[in-house]
Amino acid sequence: MQGYLKSVAWFRRRDRWFVDERRRRGEVRCIICRKAGTNRSLELHHLDYERASQDAHGKWVAGEEHGDLVAAHPRCHEWIHRVLDRDEAASSAADRREANIRVIRALRAKFSTALNLVANDEL
Ligand SMILES: [Zn+2]
Ligand SMILES: [Zn+2]
Repeated sequence: MQGYLKSVAWFRRRDRWFVDERRRRGEVRCIICRKAGTNRSLELHHLDYERASQDAHGKWVAGEEHGDLVAAHPRCHEWIHRVLDRDEAASSAADRREANIRVIRALRAKFSTALNLVANDEL
């Protein structure tokens, strides 16, 4: 998917996602830490790549549905990939989407625990 993530098709799809998300929810928030951001401060993560494909001429086609993508800060995004790569819970998941959902839930839980500790002066 490295080639795809550098394609014009993906850049257009990415821009459209931010427009659609803002239209749907009024703002764009990081899936992990829940802070609001923009298409400059947030990256998009694929829950799966099933709808990104190449046509007969090898040209990339960005067929992702809105729900195939989630926004995250570069650092939050990196955490998702790190945990995806090594987590056993994720590797026992049925497919990439299921693995992603497990990882994102676990990271969000960790993040909100950390925030509570900060709020309670325990950290
Ligand atoms: Zn974040
Ligand atoms: Zn990603």
